Amino acid sequence: MNPTFSNWSGLITSKPEKILSIANIDQAKEAVNYAQEKDLRIRTVGATHSHSPLFTNDGGMIITTDELIGPITVDEEKQTVTIPAGIKLKMATRELWENGFSFTNQGDVDVQSIAGLIATGVHGTGITHPSISSHVKDVSILTAGNTRIRASDNYETLEAARLNLGVLGIVLDATFSVTPRFYLHEHNWQENIEDLVARVDALVAENDHFEFFWNVDGVETAYAKTLNPHEGPPDPLPELKGQYVDRAHIVFPSERTMKHTEMEYSVPFESGLECFQQIRTLIRKGTHNILWPVEYRTVAPDNGWISPARDRKTVTISVHQGITEPHEPFFREAEQIFLAYDGRPHWGKVHYLDREQLSGIYGDGWEKFWDVQRKLDPKGVFVNEYMQSLQPR
Ligand SMILES: Cc1cc2nc3c(=O)[nH]c(=O)nc-3n(C[C@H](O)[C@H](O)[C@H](O)COP(=O)(O)OP(=O)(O)OC[C@H]3O[C@@H](n4cnc5c(N)ncnc54)[C@H](O)[C@@H]3O)c2cc1C
Repeated sequence: MNPTFSNWSGLITSKPEKILSIANIDQAKEAVNYAQEKDLRIRTVGATHSHSPLFTNDGGMIITTDELIGPITVDEEKQTVTIPAGIKLKMATRELWENGFSFTNQGDVDVQSIAGLIATGVHGTGITHPSISSHVKDVSILTAGNTRIRASDNYETLEAARLNLGVLGIVLDATFSVTPRFYLHEHNWQENIEDLVARVDALVAENDHFEFFWNVDGVETAYAKTLNPHEGPPDPLPELKGQYVDRAHIVFPSERTMKHTEMEYSVPFESGLECFQQIRTLIRKGTHNILWPVEYRTVAPDNGWISPARDRKTVTISVHQGITEPHEPFFREAEQIFLAYDGRPHWGKVHYLDREQLSGIYGDGWEKFWDVQRKLDPKGVFVNEYMQSLQPR
């Protein structure tokens, strides 16, 4: 019987025929040969932190990349870093710091693999900060033809690779623009949600990074956080409540150990607060018993073909649910609200959209993305059933 392979939350499972770990390009090539001989579809995984069925692969091959690691290479003059695909962000940012650099922004956690981050367009918060995919300068990919390509050799390939959903081939390493290392000053506090909402736009404008969480706790408290560059050095600032200074890569991530699932939509910045209030009203109705928080963040516009922040200033709103509670009825209702605000789903989180809806959202970008995919992988070796269901016919 085939083994079960699940994502981090344990809610997305499949039964691949083969699970294989790769540590280098030769092993990657062997895996591709094996899969083609046996007519198995391939999905490659990183830290399995995505919440959508991106890598489900019943009867196919799952390639794990925890061993696809090695030294990072910093180009000080160009201010870029090349990182093996399987390295986790935590490790990469530490090494980067030792070399004098930081990522300009990071998301909530730093446990993801480098390839997983760019496959799903991971973002943090900050209205001047686009997603990590915008910082991608090159991606090295082993394609279905068992050839290693450099995405930067061709404009279209690079555009597809910077947010690639894992369907172009096995990502071996990626090159990012980085910035001289810096310290961050974190300030977190609690505040009545209505008071906070009244000054959210100012907080977004005045701080490099701002976000808040709200959950239905009966007292209407919001948990807000700002991060701003600081000259350092690390300082616990014991005299100031909820504040400290440390290295950027230490301050950006938080601990998120409680297993959950999540839906996140990007909406135009101007509608962010109104959309949030609609989601809040839905939760307060109490039909769905949602005790998990709603998260509100911002992302700068970017021009990625299938980036949720494509061409617009963005607010991202995330809803969560514990893994032992039902989430689908709530998520489906929340999704209707997000869509009414022209929302675009996060690629690594739950959504229920079909190919027509995604094509409607991304238009020519969706077509261009899949044109590159078909060119690199005409037989769809890297396209699982789920991705087939979304691929344009
Ligand atoms: C607790 C938690 C916190 C999160 N916080 C944030 C956040 O702050 N911001 C945000 O935007 N998202 C966030 N996410 C979502 C998550 O970061 C993304 O879904 C990300 O893709 C996960 O990276 P991963 O390494 O786990 O990738 P996986 O989930 O393993 O895979 C994701 C995709 O990457 C592809 N892939 C992985 N490795 C390779 C490879 N070597 N070659 C080709 N394709 C590959 C897979 O095929 C798949 O399509 C969070 C998720 C969790 C569970």
